[in-house]
Amino acid sequence: MGQPHPREYDVAVLGLGVIGSAAAYWSAKRGARVLGLEQFELGHARGSSHDRSRIIRLSYFTPAYVQMAKEAYRAWASLESDAGEQLIVKTGGLDIGPRGSPVRISDHARSMRACGVAFEELDAAEIRKRWPCWRVGDEVHGLFQADAGIVAAERATDALRRVAVGCGATLLDRTPVTLLRAAAGEIEIEAGGHHYRAGRLIVAAGAWTNGALAHFGRRLPIEVTKEQVIYFVPRDPAAFTLGEFPLWIWQDEPSFYGFPIFDETRTVKITQDSAGKAVDAQTRGFEEDAEITARVTGFLERYLPAALGPADSVKTCLYARTPDRDFVIDALPGYPNVSVAIGDGHAFKFGSLIGRILSDGAVDGCDLTAFKITRSVLSRLDAGKHDERPAADR
Ligand SMILES: Cc1cc2nc3c(=O)[nH]c(=O)nc-3n(C[C@H](O)[C@H](O)[C@H](O)COP(=O)(O)OP(=O)(O)OC[C@H]3O[C@@H](n4cnc5c(N)ncnc54)[C@H](O)[C@@H]3O)c2cc1C
Repeated sequence: MGQPHPREYDVAVLGLGVIGSAAAYWSAKRGARVLGLEQFELGHARGSSHDRSRIIRLSYFTPAYVQMAKEAYRAWASLESDAGEQLIVKTGGLDIGPRGSPVRISDHARSMRACGVAFEELDAAEIRKRWPCWRVGDEVHGLFQADAGIVAAERATDALRRVAVGCGATLLDRTPVTLLRAAAGEIEIEAGGHHYRAGRLIVAAGAWTNGALAHFGRRLPIEVTKEQVIYFVPRDPAAFTLGEFPLWIWQDEPSFYGFPIFDETRTVKITQDSAGKAVDAQTRGFEEDAEITARVTGFLERYLPAALGPADSVKTCLYARTPDRDFVIDALPGYPNVSVAIGDGHAFKFGSLIGRILSDGAVDGCDLTAFKITRSVLSRLDAGKHDERPAADR
């Protein structure tokens, strides 16, 4: 690797999507000397964190996630205060689906009850009364949780980086990390033709995680898929405005989800969850998957026809999926000064919080047991079926 560059950092962060940017933000805020390295331009559209919006919600299928989601709101509030910018808009959230679905809304209800989160259980008649756009039969039920909302995704990731730099972090774009080596209690890094040394390394490489872990002789059974979201101009825009219509997740197999209109584009973002095909992050294309579009269109025709106007645009995005859909947030075995975070397809809402955990270690109220890198499902490199949990629950 040659002579290390004399520059030294307390923390180096590999990857500046939402998780790496948050790790840089929280580490720099604590006074650490931070180096962030991103292979593409900041805010690029090749990974998982771009585009305008992500769902944030308390409604989750286990109490541990509900508890963590509570902390996630606090971690975003810290950034909102530091950045002087509102990044979360509450819309209310509707979990909706047929009774008897493999994705049990009752699990969400039980988990929220266990964590003292208020919500309403709704039958089909009540759903039709509140939001007449829903064309659902009496076999459908749902629950409404008022704190659910939208994280302004790109603005939030920008804000994390901006505040990190304001706290002294050095963030370099177009700087791919090409070599990592643990030596003498430090991590030596080669990136963009320069050498760096840091006391700690945080790997937040999303779909490229295995490329980074290969430097330490490790590989995880992550499946990278190319997902897509579709922006429709609704037939009845008034019915989908903020305050009129909530975020919604159709909790069934397959699962669909959608947003109200929340910005000047006057469109609703809707798609099928976990619908994408496996791809290689390096060679993937950006083209529309017509099969996903057809399934989304069919769903809307049947249940939410007022949303189904012309498609305004289609955007693609990568999921880096673990076999059990739980995150990885842990130290790399044998390398106590290397931490790894993988967000699967539902981590944006937790992005600021995961960054805080990576910088501080444990955070009160967050049970990280499910996110251990040593859990058995991650030791099976053939665990590529990725079918151990129903598709919903992003
Ligand atoms: C269509 C879609 C919808 C989603 N909706 C939601 C939602 O509603 N709610 C929610 O909570 N979550 C949602 N998610 C999931 C969420 O967006 C991701 O979990 C999150 O963005 C993952 O962030 P990340 O920082 O791990 O990955 P990324 O954003 O991909 O960041 C990893 C970064 O590492 C960089 N990198 C990798 N290797 C190197 C290297 N060698 N050198 C330098 N840089 C490197 C990459 O270029 C990349 O920028 C959605 C995801 C998709 C795709």
